[in-house]
Formats: sequence, C-alpha cells, structure tokens
Amino acid sequence: MLTLTDPAEMRAWSRAHTRSGRTIGFVPTMGALHTGHLALIADAQRRCDEVVVSIFVNPLQFNEAADFDSYPRPIDADVAACESAGVAVVYAPTARTMYPERFQTRVVPGALAEQMEGPGRPGHFEGVVTVVAKLFGAVRPDAAIFGQKDFQQLAIITAMSADLDLGIEIIGHPIVREDDGLALSSRNVRLTADQRDAARCVPRSLDAACEAAARDEATAGSVTAAALRVIEDEPLARLEYSTVFDPGTLAELDAVTRLTAPDGSHARPRIATAVWFGDVRLIDNRDLFGS
Ligand code: AMP
Repeated sequence: MLTLTDPAEMRAWSRAHTRSGRTIGFVPTMGALHTGHLALIADAQRRCDEVVVSIFVNPLQFNEAADFDSYPRPIDADVAACESAGVAVVYAPTARTMYPERFQTRVVPGALAEQMEGPGRPGHFEGVVTVVAKLFGAVRPDAAIFGQKDFQQLAIITAMSADLDLGIEIIGHPIVREDDGLALSSRNVRLTADQRDAARCVPRSLDAACEAAARDEATAGSVTAAALRVIEDEPLARLEYSTVFDPGTLAELDAVTRLTAPDGSHARPRIATAVWFGDVRLIDNRDLFGS
C-alpha cells in the first residue's frame, strides 16, 4: 500500500492506473476509522479494481475551532487499518498542501445545503464540497462512496458531481450501527461511558418515530413528538432538532405519506436528528417506512 501526501503524485498514480484499464473507487474520510468506514471501503472494492482512501481533517468544514482541535487523529492505526483492508493508496495531504497561502477558490453548494443542518452550521457544506472537489481533482476516481449517515452531505455531493459534470458516480452506503443501534461515528470515542450509554436514545428515538409513522393519521408533528419524548426521557441528552424530510429535496415535510418525484418515481420520507451529549454532537437519520 502507498501513502501519498502530494496531489500531483496522487494524480500521477491515478492516471497510470486509469490508462492501464483499472477502475478507481474512492472513500473520502477524516480518519479515526471505524467499521462504518471499512464497510464503505469493502463496497468500493466490490465495485472497482483499486481503492483509494483519503484521510484529511478539513479545517474548512468545522464551525467550532474546539471541535476541529479535539477531532481524533490516530493516523498510524488508520494507515494500518487501510493496509489490512487491502486499500491501494492512502491519500493524506497536509492542511498546508490543501490550503496554501494564496488559496482562494471555493465551491458553493445550492438549495440542498440550506435545509436541515445548513442554518445551524454556516459555511459547513461549502467547506465540505470544496474539499471533496479538491480530493476528486487529485484522486480522479470513477466512483466515490459516501455514507447515508451524513444524508445531506451525500445529497449535496451527488448534486455537485452532476452539476459540475465531474463524471464521478456517487454511491450512498447504508448506515452501519453498533449492536445497540447507535450509528458508528468517529465522535463516539469522545463520549464518556455514561454518555455512551445514554446515546442509545438516538436510534431509539428514530424507532419511536417509525412506530408513530405507521399509525393512521400520523403527521410529521406526531412523528417528531414521539422522537422528542424518547430524547427528553434521557437526562444526558439535549435535542437540537428532529425533522421529517423529503429525501429528494431535503425539504421539511408536514405529511408522512409516500412522495412522488417529478419523474414519477416514489420516495419515502425520512427523519433526521441531531442530539448533544455534553459537547459531542451526534447525528442520525432513518427511512420512516424502512425495515
Ligand atoms: P467522516 O470520516 O466522518 O467524514 O466519514 C467519512 C465517510 O464515512 C462519510 O461518507 C460518512 O458518511 C461515512 N460514515 C461515517 N460513519 C458511518 C456509518 N456509521 N455508516 C456508514 N457510513 C458512515
């Protein structure tokens, strides 16, 4: 396995492999790799001949300096995990390489970034799409895999790839969870033992929302109220939001019935939530009518 830090070297590797007819799958990460990331890597390996994993904690997408500083960075363990997973290249550029002194260009996402997480995290998605565009420029993959855990991010990057004619297939991978239902996240390691126990209320609140959605006369209000009750019962948890949304437009919904897109396809509403445990913020989402 190669570890590269320079975009020109990354591009040269990619070009050589593409020329020899190999397809390249890409999994962008901020490191502190867990089973969720490994599932994305395995998905990329099933689809493509070679897999590149990037590890870069992107300062542009953090709203709080403290969150950026405390983000876990176990780089040696991450490189070892990629090596045993059969990754071809770890691309781990430095912040200075990514954002040199005269760096000035940003990619601006559209309406999808104004929904859900958008208002509470100004500039976050601009930081995300800018770094992903840069990573795509260095890695030049055929396909890139993103987790549905960050559902809004996946939607925004899918739009960017289409809108900017990048020709990169964007694939969404289902959320990988712990046995008790908590979605895997690099931030989970920052929870105290008590907070980790309490965090089970997040997936349980989504379960309660799904049960409420299955009832006759369910509305988005009754569904989010069911989720809220579960979070309120947990003293260590503080709800930031819980929203029923259209998975196509990410717009907040009042009704919880099946949706018909302009192309005639059907989609099922989802619920998304953000919950705080001390200074750790966890997000999760679920198809309201999924299994
Ligand atoms: P991160 O390192 O947190 O930026 O995540 C890198 C990628 O892994 C993103 O596409 C995330 O959506 C995805 N990811 C993180 N946690 C999970 C999870 N529990 N299940 C599926 N994908 C995940």
